[in-house]
Amino acid sequence: MNSADVIIIGGGIVGSSIAYHLTEAGCRDILVLERETHQGKGSTGKSMGGVRAQFATDINIRMSLYSIPFFGAFDEVMGHPSGYRPQGYLFVANTPAHMDYLRENYRHQVAAGVKAVRLLDARDVSHIAPELRHDDILGGSFCATDGFVDPYSVMTGFMPKAIERGVRLMRDTDVTGIAVDARGVAGVQTSRGFISGRTVVNAAGAWAGNVARLAGVDLPVEPLRRMLVPTEPFDKVSHQSPMVVDMNTGFHYRPEGRGLLLAWNDPDETPGFKLNFDRGFIEKVLTRGADRLPCLEEAEVNPKRAWAGLYEMTPDHHPVMGEVKQLPGFFLANGFSGHGVMHSPATGRIMADLILRGRSGLVDTDLLGLDRFASGRLLHETAVL
Ligand SMILES: Cc1cc2nc3c(=O)[nH]c(=O)nc-3n(C[C@H](O)[C@H](O)[C@H](O)COP(=O)(O)OP(=O)(O)OC[C@H]3O[C@@H](n4cnc5c(N)ncnc54)[C@H](O)[C@@H]3O)c2cc1C
Repeated sequence: MNSADVIIIGGGIVGSSIAYHLTEAGCRDILVLERETHQGKGSTGKSMGGVRAQFATDINIRMSLYSIPFFGAFDEVMGHPSGYRPQGYLFVANTPAHMDYLRENYRHQVAAGVKAVRLLDARDVSHIAPELRHDDILGGSFCATDGFVDPYSVMTGFMPKAIERGVRLMRDTDVTGIAVDARGVAGVQTSRGFISGRTVVNAAGAWAGNVARLAGVDLPVEPLRRMLVPTEPFDKVSHQSPMVVDMNTGFHYRPEGRGLLLAWNDPDETPGFKLNFDRGFIEKVLTRGADRLPCLEEAEVNPKRAWAGLYEMTPDHHPVMGEVKQLPGFFLANGFSGHGVMHSPATGRIMADLILRGRSGLVDTDLLGLDRFASGRLLHETAVL
């Protein structure tokens, strides 16, 4: 009979990182199940690839403090490029309330150990991003080690290293059931037959709620559509530009290829498995964008190159990590709420610690358990993009 010590459901960046980190800790009998014929067809292949330590909560900052140096060393350790470009994240404020917010986050980040973050006045902002409309800018914050990675390349870097050490990856294998007995999880039913195992990890991204339901677990992770619009080649903004976030509207952009990648999170978007790109979004993002980045009026956009993907949202915008108390052996690594790429290294490490040792020193994992939703002990992250 087919079996594995650890069965991971989902071969995206999170499942791949968990597999890799388990092998780092000496675990070898690991099976990753991916229903698609190729990895990356979930959210990982749709991501903007942003990486930052500029968060409001300790947990998110700590996860970034592990992950960012990991991306920095990735090429050497994995023999595969992560595409990490430390071009920074620039938050731009034009209200005193936003400046206060950045100041408070800055204090928090420095206290947690972020070294490269600094608060900016209006002149500093204009040096870093001269292309912006500056008349109402009060200041901002910038962290030089923030930047971007290539999510697909990170995912496909984790996996061969894990496979080299014995991990098996089964593609085209849909998990359709989770078997439970008196001891806890007993295995998974798949489109290719039953696989027995006492440790099963849900790494199914935006589909995690469906996978949890197979085990009778109620997991509050909702899919939420996000859309990205690349411009055609455009040289009015430096290709060395950071990710720039206009806090006034939430519009943000970064260099991508020979152009820019434009984003804005539409507050009217509603949860659901919507993967179609809505052409009406182009007008919305360009209107917000040109208000802060006037040269965008001259940029060309081809709607056929734009795309949509899914965030996997939890009610408090923090991931759910750890073993489900009522179901021994069933582990969750879900609900990254837009940060699953940048936090994939820390997630892999934390999950390997929890699976193999029952605890992790990286963050206070008690705060990330599923039971926080029932008990109302929610975390609160306001720096969500
Ligand atoms: C437009 C957009 C922009 C984003 N920008 C950023 C960003 O700048 N920075 C950042 O950090 N994050 C960003 N994210 C979020 C990030 O992409 C996700 O958090 C991350 O990719 C989640 O990885 P994952 O491996 O959990 O999920 P996925 O990549 O979705 O992988 C889950 C896998 O599980 C498989 N699966 C599901 N159900 C089953 C089943 N029953 N059986 C077998 N396999 C199954 C799926 O096929 C899929 O391959 C963005 C997301 C989007 C959509």
